[in-house]
Amino acid sequence: MLFLADGGGDRIKRRAIGAYLGLAVGDALGATVEFLTPNEIRAAYREHRDMTGGGWLKLRRGQITDDTGMALALGRSILATGRVDAGAAAEAFSDWMHRKPVDIGNTVRRGIASYRRTGVPEMAPNEYDAGNGACMRCLPVALATLGADIGTVNAANQAQAHVTHNNPISDAGTLAVLRMVQTGLLGGDRAALAALAAELVAQEPTYDYARRRSENPSAFIVDTLRTVFQSLFATDSFEAALIDCVNRGGDADTTGAITGMIAGALYGPTEIPSRWVRHLERDVRIACIEQAQALVRLAPICAVA
Ligand code: MN
Ligand code: MN
Repeated sequence: MLFLADGGGDRIKRRAIGAYLGLAVGDALGATVEFLTPNEIRAAYREHRDMTGGGWLKLRRGQITDDTGMALALGRSILATGRVDAGAAAEAFSDWMHRKPVDIGNTVRRGIASYRRTGVPEMAPNEYDAGNGACMRCLPVALATLGADIGTVNAANQAQAHVTHNNPISDAGTLAVLRMVQTGLLGGDRAALAALAAELVAQEPTYDYARRRSENPSAFIVDTLRTVFQSLFATDSFEAALIDCVNRGGDADTTGAITGMIAGALYGPTEIPSRWVRHLERDVRIACIEQAQALVRLAPICAVA
């Protein structure tokens, strides 16, 4: 692996930190305007571009929500077991729910409750469980499986996803996000990421994001990812992508979180505005940075160095 021999390992770790901080920053930025329409956001902020907290959850400035909270829980489970394990993930999600998170989706709550009742860390397939809850927390899988073959990435994705969301549309969209993050970590450009989005659209045409501008996106994974792709591919910086997507309102903390993890991998941590990063809570910022490095160390890409 040439890019590791010439110090590329450090570059990958830096970009992994970018992805994790990008997730947290996008979550915290978007949460302020979650469930508002673009018109309501314009009336209140003209353009929402600063960490202010507030929103329907009455957050402190820079406070993260379930998107980052569940990713950190999943990351802890991977670091504790050395792999992506459905049972360990379910246990970590259950712990997280026990600590009374500020928000939690219905499908997530149902999945965790089912695990507590049955001990089985996998929901039955359900065509309605196509919310964005499995995707919003997937980043640790992208980091821990970097360099693995696609079958391994896919299996790890499904192991964590099916704890709460067992749905082929969710699986396909989340796998595409994992591949986009990994491609960004390895130095791929926006065109390489767009090619992965095109592959997803070819496989699941419902993801076609070219047709019309997505506004006020719901928590349906297809709505969410159309918004993410439009913002990512219509802009050329981390800041512009995030501002574009959160100002579309709707499930803005989650479009922000997913755009943030991909854009953070693509552009790297130094492109994340410091006025956003510095408002993250200290323990969250440190956990993101530490997990990013530790998860990449576990990844196959590091084992070959
Ligand atoms: Mn949230
Ligand atoms: Mn959300």
